[in-house]
Amino acid sequence: MTKRVAIIGAGPSGLAQLRAFEAARRAGADVPELVCYEKQSNWGGLWNYTWRTGLDENGEPVHGSMYRYLWSNGPKECLEFADYSFEEHFGRPIPSYPPRAVLHDYIAGRVERSDVRKYVRFCTPVRWVSYSQETGRFTVTAKDLIKDEHQTEEFDHVVVANGHFSVPSVPHFEGIDQFPGRVMHAHDFRVADEFVGKRMLLVGSSYSAEDIGTQCIKYGARSIIFSYRTKPMGFDWPPGFEERPLLTKFTGKVAHFKDGSSAEVDAVILCTGYQHSYPFLPDELRLKTKNCLYPAGLYKGIFWQDNPKLIYIGMQDQYYTFNMFDAQAWYARDVMMGRLDLPSREDQAADIAKWLAYQDTLTNPFEAIDFQTEYVRELLAATDYPHLDVDRVAALFKEWEHHKMEGILTYRDRSYPSTITGTLSPRHHTTWMKALDDSLPAFMGLPQAAE
Ligand SMILES: Cc1cc2nc3c(=O)[nH]c(=O)nc-3n(C[C@H](O)[C@H](O)[C@H](O)COP(=O)(O)OP(=O)(O)OC[C@H]3O[C@@H](n4cnc5c(N)ncnc54)[C@H](O)[C@@H]3O)c2cc1C
Repeated sequence: MTKRVAIIGAGPSGLAQLRAFEAARRAGADVPELVCYEKQSNWGGLWNYTWRTGLDENGEPVHGSMYRYLWSNGPKECLEFADYSFEEHFGRPIPSYPPRAVLHDYIAGRVERSDVRKYVRFCTPVRWVSYSQETGRFTVTAKDLIKDEHQTEEFDHVVVANGHFSVPSVPHFEGIDQFPGRVMHAHDFRVADEFVGKRMLLVGSSYSAEDIGTQCIKYGARSIIFSYRTKPMGFDWPPGFEERPLLTKFTGKVAHFKDGSSAEVDAVILCTGYQHSYPFLPDELRLKTKNCLYPAGLYKGIFWQDNPKLIYIGMQDQYYTFNMFDAQAWYARDVMMGRLDLPSREDQAADIAKWLAYQDTLTNPFEAIDFQTEYVRELLAATDYPHLDVDRVAALFKEWEHHKMEGILTYRDRSYPSTITGTLSPRHHTTWMKALDDSLPAFMGLPQAAE
């Protein structure tokens, strides 16, 4: 009997899994029957922009955390698919830091061309997954939101690819309930124009804070205070930005900080991170982890230790993104198709322990980049995924870190060579700070103005 595989989510991770199977099918292999459940009406995951916040048109929690005017926060050369270059997709080299719409076009283009849309059931969130020891199969229940009916089917494997940057962690601060202005989590941030002329407080010191803060200044906010819990981001911030220790409380519009200082602000954005959330999984199958490079309980960062038929893609903290999801998906595919064997439980546990011990030694971003490079390298070595020179990718990540330190508002004006085609990216026609139209035609220098 043909095996059946369920994939939960058609974001970059789920799409990598579809593409991996399709590559095997095109090479002549018998591949399992695939069903990809996607709760949104289109694919692309976070890259599929929505203006909505809170609940979506079907009353489901909005998945999207991306905002208008979001541009890639790392060089596109670091995430380029080894089997589908940017040049192949766009027919010419493009600059290194594309806006969201351009990256969505790239992600979607690869899967459109491999004709895998037929496997995706859109507007169909998975509600529950269970595993039967007797049959050795999973039962997946999902809801078709258009037909307004549930559907239940059995599968030999389940691939969990629902992302982990959609369910916000929202701390409480004394007086925040009385703050006389806009308060939101980064998950609900959409349009920077709302904050023109405002004095903003951004709580957090990671990518969301850095990127939303710089974007708001770009579109006309008056000033940004970042408030950090453990340590400041430490960039050489231009006038208009400052970093302060943790917010302790509000009295009216005045924010008070741990160092005893205070400042009046007009709006607050909590850039306080996200939770891993799998409401469709029972306790014995559910990954419980904070955001880290190597979640415990996953062999090769992929296979659920207690039941390796359950597969997780993309659950790591991410330097590498799209090409790491590919490396995972190709590896998972080969295990599901019986091309790769998993070692004994003891050997799996020892391998996980080795990576966790390595993770514990990491002290800075450069070591973290090396860690994830080694992880991706190991996965790639086991499959027929086209050649990806991870040493060159790692070198680009490190250059990018240096370029951010040299200019947090100018690093996106840099160009890097593709590790796939070797072509040096052209410079963008407009510097990032001045490029206010983030549509695909504007970025590509095409005549029409709308996306
Ligand atoms: C604000 C922000 C900016 C980012 N910027 C960058 C960047 O510049 N560069 C970069 O490389 N990465 C960036 N990332 C990282 C991002 O995690 C990855 O690029 C990528 O989107 C992860 O893909 P994914 O498929 O694992 O998850 P997601 O993109 O989150 O996709 C998961 C999919 O699963 C679906 N889903 C969820 N629950 C269910 C369910 N129950 N049933 C069915 N479907 C479900 C969702 O609708 C979604 O389509 C950013 C992330 C955020 C939040």
